[in-house]
Amino acid sequence: MAIRTVVWGENIHERTNAVVAQVYPRGMHTTIADALNTDAAISASTATLEQEEHGLPQSRLDETDVLLWWGHARRTRRGLPTRSSSGSPRRVWQGMGLIVLHSGHHSKIFKRLMGTPANLHWREAGERERLWVVNPGHPIAKGLPRYFELENEEMYGEPFSVPEPLETVFVSWFQGGEIFRSGLTYRRGAGNIFYFRPGHETYPTYHDKTVGVVLRNAVHWAFNAERHEELMKAPNTPVDKAIEKIVERGAKLAKHPG
Ligand code: ZN
Repeated sequence: MAIRTVVWGENIHERTNAVVAQVYPRGMHTTIADALNTDAAISASTATLEQEEHGLPQSRLDETDVLLWWGHARRTRRGLPTRSSSGSPRRVWQGMGLIVLHSGHHSKIFKRLMGTPANLHWREAGERERLWVVNPGHPIAKGLPRYFELENEEMYGEPFSVPEPLETVFVSWFQGGEIFRSGLTYRRGAGNIFYFRPGHETYPTYHDKTVGVVLRNAVHWAFNAERHEELMKAPNTPVDKAIEKIVERGAKLAKHPG
């Protein structure tokens, strides 16, 4: 069965900004989903902010293997809806893959999973970004050259206040001289998380063929076929169920802990 993938897009700038609408007439989320769907092993659909429950009701998240997240304008205020279970990192902990794109670094879901501010510094000047593959053996870098370039991008500069990653796949250099760790992996619970930096909405980044390769590789890497419900529980093992025979002793908080 193909990897059930949902591309979540804010879909605000595509409708309110003429430049963005021209670059992504059908929305960034659609362009990203189209790039993913060129791989028969991926089945990508889209969800957007203006839909009921932001397009991500629990029933849909339950049937999602990998979620891609692009947010900007309302990133800090909304992110994933937090009032419902779909807003919690629960599905990621259970094993859903999460790919956070560009300004999604400030989304609630990413910050909650990182536990840090995820701040950086930035400049919107359409400068060249050169992404170096610093981990050529990594599955997300499969089929890529030593480096690739995006002629126009927004600059993100270090320090990027995220925890030390599991792996660093890309490091970017910008024409203005800054550098940035632009491809980072994490694991939280059973969930694989990949942060990928490029994708400012006024530039055609998601039409780029190499970016498409990265995103498809990332979906395959993030996919976990198993769902780990047991990680959501904290059960008690009573004395008489201990693997080795033991005798209860010492003080105890409650007669029936639970
Ligand atoms: Zn941006």
